[in-house]
Order: sequence, then structure tokens, then C-alpha cells
Amino acid sequence: MTETKSTCCYCGVGCGVIIEHEAGHITGVRGDPQHPANFGRLCTKGATLHLSAAPETLAARALHPELRSGRGEARQRVGWDTALDTAAERFAAIIAEHGPDAVAVYGAGQLLTEDYYVFNKLVKGLIGTNNLDTNSRLCMSSAVAGYKLSLGADAPPCSYADIAHTSALFITGSNTAFAHPIAFRRVEEARKARPDMKLVVIDPRRTDTAEAADLHLALLPGTDIALYNAMLHVMLWEGWVDRGYIEAHTEGFDALKKIVREYTPAMAGSICGLDRKAIEEAAQIFATSPATLSMYCQGLNQYSFGTHNNSALINLHLATGQIGRPGAGPFSLTGQPNAMGGREVGGLANLLSAHRDMANPAHRAEVAALWGVPDVPATPGKSAVELFRALKSGEVKAVWIACTNPAQSLPDQALVHEALQAAEFVIVQEAFGHTETCAYADLLLPATTWGEKDGTVTNSERAISRVRAAVPAPGEARHDWAIVVDFARRLGARLGEAELAARMFPYASPEEIWNEHRESTRGRDLDITGLSYALLETAGPQQWPFPEGASAGKVRLYEDGVFPTPGGRARFVATEHRITAESPSARFPLHLNSGRLRDQWHGMSRTGLVARLYSHESEPMLHMHKDDMARRQLADGDLVKVKSRRGDVMLKVLESATLRAGQCFVPMHWGANATGGLGINVLLPADFDPYSKQPELKHAAVQVEKYTDG
Ligand code: SF4
Repeated sequence: MTETKSTCCYCGVGCGVIIEHEAGHITGVRGDPQHPANFGRLCTKGATLHLSAAPETLAARALHPELRSGRGEARQRVGWDTALDTAAERFAAIIAEHGPDAVAVYGAGQLLTEDYYVFNKLVKGLIGTNNLDTNSRLCMSSAVAGYKLSLGADAPPCSYADIAHTSALFITGSNTAFAHPIAFRRVEEARKARPDMKLVVIDPRRTDTAEAADLHLALLPGTDIALYNAMLHVMLWEGWVDRGYIEAHTEGFDALKKIVREYTPAMAGSICGLDRKAIEEAAQIFATSPATLSMYCQGLNQYSFGTHNNSALINLHLATGQIGRPGAGPFSLTGQPNAMGGREVGGLANLLSAHRDMANPAHRAEVAALWGVPDVPATPGKSAVELFRALKSGEVKAVWIACTNPAQSLPDQALVHEALQAAEFVIVQEAFGHTETCAYADLLLPATTWGEKDGTVTNSERAISRVRAAVPAPGEARHDWAIVVDFARRLGARLGEAELAARMFPYASPEEIWNEHRESTRGRDLDITGLSYALLETAGPQQWPFPEGASAGKVRLYEDGVFPTPGGRARFVATEHRITAESPSARFPLHLNSGRLRDQWHGMSRTGLVARLYSHESEPMLHMHKDDMARRQLADGDLVKVKSRRGDVMLKVLESATLRAGQCFVPMHWGANATGGLGINVLLPADFDPYSKQPELKHAAVQVEKYTDG
């Protein structure tokens, strides 16, 4: 048996794993005791990774390129040359006729940094459009926009190590116990070691995370800003703000002060559905604890005002000086294993490499010079929702989807299916050939996946970890980066830019790509010029920044109180409570919330292959309060039709004590087959935040009716 060290491919905790393999097959997996994210621990998903790579799962893999001659035809197996020549011809023809903005790439936070880098360079450098977005738009873009707006840069200032140092942990909009289980183990251990540490959980549901809290604020969905403004109101009233910190290191406090004057605990309590005493208690814990850390995720991000949800929480850290010290700061948890790496290389439609700003001509010129192209476009490309709308309208003609399943994961799912149907040419680059999106592929490109590929990922705490191949690629699957490089050269030839493409994409290994990415960070806030694959090999994962000459990365940012804004000061964002994209009505009287189960991951293309993971919850159930069930004469297991303004799904119902009356919850993992129609996301609206373009996947107004046949 041989062992290979790698990183778990599921959540943003980024646990180190040791893959056990024999004769080209993965036989086991265990936690890497030396990895700083998990010190040997793994959750149920990580501990069963080897089962998702068992020989019997090969049937679910895409193993050969497949091409169809026309819509309605079955795809036929073809060789790689035919596949990539066809892809390049179709893209080149569309670009020639309609311009570069008529094509797009839609990727994923599961891609490795090296994959992301070459996709970004292909689209923004060679093709000349910013139409490159990823499923990180659904997950982290409000955290990106929130950090930039408040602190001046997209840089989480904290580390997992801060959990052990904090005296008050606020977990808000995150069921960490399920979604980031190993981070939650660290919370449990910290509380055991320091029984005086307070845990406050802010979540509409009484999740497993909330169950463990000293104080649970079960606010109404989408009322976070009102709560944080009221907490600041209390802090001001009681004299708990840190005036010294505010004066020395921030700007804009007076404008915010004027706004929060109106947010008395009683007034905000009526918006949030909370007792004013609970708001006062939360404010006291936050402001008066020696070190306060907040950890947050989709419950803040996935709203049409997700950016300001983030900013309103960061306001509290700035007002109390709870930032830049051990155990203190706003710490966004990334949902995906490499959402951070994607952000680092500029892998979204509005970002440029190494945290450069697309609107800044000097930054665009720097990227163009690095890539050896005349320029990069200044206009942001289409974000996830915009991209699929443009595909439906015909504005975008061709899309290349890599490592993600938008036909299942995007909101307003019916629109996404219509868009994929309407597209002139759809490429799907996937390891798993059974996803809803694969059904629309005119060209299916088989890709390698966890255990088979090399590169790096960055987790929530800015730590870069190596991902390593343990076994060979199955069938004819190729590495994502290698497919992009091969395609880029073929496309370049058809665009009359063969020499340029050969110069831009000379790579023979992921390390060569990473070295170029590293150079692009020189002098930037995320400078990693002091790192190398060799150092990651010997010293293990390292946090950025890690500039040339440094002996270690930075555990914590902003310890000196200097922020990467023009004036060096962090910015208070004066923001007000606003309502969700749709409110409950007589016709759609219930708030619907969506979220994760402990043992499933995203659209289950991998975890769905592991029978053991189904023991926790084997099918999607609508979780409802007993009063709402009684009103509809429902019992556990009854089939119900859940309907929103966009469509409906059939589900079994389950009484749940975790919800308040008037609210229901559905796990987001299941697609078409389990719901009798489209998947869960057909219910959710595609309204998005104006800053981050992140859609409101956390809330819809729905009606629930008992299903009666006929
Ligand atoms: Fe993998 Fe996340 Fe579980 Fe760690 S906590 S083993 S990264 S799924």
C-alpha cells in the first residue's frame, strides 16, 4: 500500500487527508495529523472520500469525450482531437460572428487554483471577454464585496486558531456543525478548555449549531441588518464602543450613528421577531468580551442585500475594536474547497488576477503585461444569474461549464434549463457524467477529480494546501488545466493568434502555472512570492501573504490597525434593514429557507455515490412546524406540493422543532429525480445583491398543500 498526502475536496475547512492506495486504486483515507486545518480529524464526508472513488463508482464517471451532431441526437464517443477541434471551431465561429462577449465560461470553487488561473487567462486574456463566472458567485461573492467595502480588500483577517483564543464566538448564518464540521469540533474543544467562552448563534432555525449555544437568536429570515444595528444602538447607549479604535482606525462612524439611533432593541425586536432583552444580551457579550470572533457563511451571503449583511456585522467589530487581535475579527467561512483560490486568481466576472481591480486602468495594464496581451476588457462580464439569462435571450451563444451543475444549483431553475436548451453550443467538462447539466452537453469532456489531480487550494483562513494525485486518471479523463491549455492553442490558431496562444499557454505542469500565478501576486496584499511547491512540500500548508524573504505567512491581518483603503482606515457602512426579494403573502404564506445536511455535499454528484452517507437523511424532506402541519392536516411522511412563484416540487413532509411557525426548510442537495420535477432550486428566486450579484438562495415565499392524486 502507498500513501499520498492531499486535501479534502469538500468544504472550505480544507482538511488534510492521507490517501491510501494500491495498484492504482484508492483503498482508504484518513486525516493528516500534521495538517493545521484538522490535525488528523475528518468529518463523515471526508472520512468516506475513498468510497466515492471505489471501483463501482466508475459507472458514474465521464470517461470519454462525447459529441452530438445536433440537439435531440445522442452523444457519440469521439477522440480528444475531434472534441477539442470542434470546441475551438464552434467558439471561434461564434466569436468571429458575434464578438467575444457571445461566449462564456462557468466554473466552480472545486477547481484547483491552477485550473482557475488558466481558465481566467483564456477568457480574459486570449478571448477578450470578462464572461467568466463560477458557482462561487452563489456562495462567497457577498463576503468578497463585504470585505472590500468595509476593510478595503478581500482578505479574511482571521484563522481557525482564533477559535481557541476567543472569549465570545458569534456564529451567524452558518450551521457550522453540519457545513464545516471540523471547524465546529474546534469550537467544541475550545469551549471544553475554556468553559467561560460564550457561544452565540444567530440563525432562524434551531440547528445543531444553535443547540450548542449559550444564546440562540432565532431571528426572522433576512433581518440581520436590523439586529446588528440594534446591537450597535445598545453599545452606543451603554458606552461599550471603543472610541479610541474608531478615531484612530476608521471612518464614517457619524453617518452610521445617525442611522442606528432609530434601531432601538424594541423596534428591531419587532422586525427580527426577537425579545429586546436577547438583543441587549448579545450586544453586551459582543462588546464587553475580551476577544470576540464572528464566523459566518451563506445565511448572511445568500440574500439580495448580502453585502450589507456582511458590512453590518463588520461594523460591530470596528465599533468595538474587536479585530486584529488573537480571537477577534470577522471570519467568513468559505463553502467550497477552493473558493478562495478562485478569488485569488480573479476567477469571477468582476475580478482580475491577484485582487486587482477591473475598473482600474493601471491594474488592467499590469495583468495585460503579465499575460503578454495588448489589454484586458474593462467591462465586468456576466455574473452567474446574468449569464444564464443572457444564454436564454441569445445574447450569449455558447457556454463552457466546468466542474459544476448549474441546472441543479442555480435559483429559478426552470429558467436555467430553458437557457441551456436555447444555447447554440454547450460544453460540459465534468468528472461525473450523470448530472442534470450533462444532459444538455453538446460536448462532454471527461475530467479528472480528487485523488487523480495535482495542484493547490486555499481554505477559509488563507492557507494554501497541496492537492496530490494518488491514482491515474480513469478512461480518457484529462486534468482540467490540461484541457484548457490544449483548447487555448487550438482556439488561438483559429483566431489567427496561434503564436500568442502558444506563448500564453506554454505549461507542461500545474507547478508552472502556479509559478506564474505566484509572480502575479508580487507586491499585492496576497503576495506569495516567498512560497513554492517545494516549500509546501517540506513545510506543509502556508497562509498568505507570504512575500519573498518572509519565514512564515500571516495568521492574522490588520494587527497594526492599518487597512488597505486609500486613507488606511476601515470604513463603517451606514446601512438600513430592507425586505427580502419576496415577502410571504396570502397566496404564499410561508418563509422557505434552504440549507445543507450533515452528510451531503452540494448536488451530491460525489457524496450521492456513498451509501453510508444516506443514513442521516435519505431523501429530501420539507421540514415544517407542527402548527403549520396541523393547519394543513399533515402528518409525517405525507406527500406535499411546495409551490413558489416560479414552480413547484413534490416532497414528503417532516415535523421539525427547529423552526418557528410560519417557516419551513428544505435541504438543497437534491435535483430533478428526487422531487418529481425540477430540483429544490426551482422554488428559489434569482434576485441578487446589486454589489455582489449573489442570488437570494436563502429565502422564498411558498405555499404548501397536501398532495392528492388527481
Ligand atoms: Fe472535508 Fe470539510 Fe469535512 Fe474537513 S470538515 S473533512 S474539509 S468536508
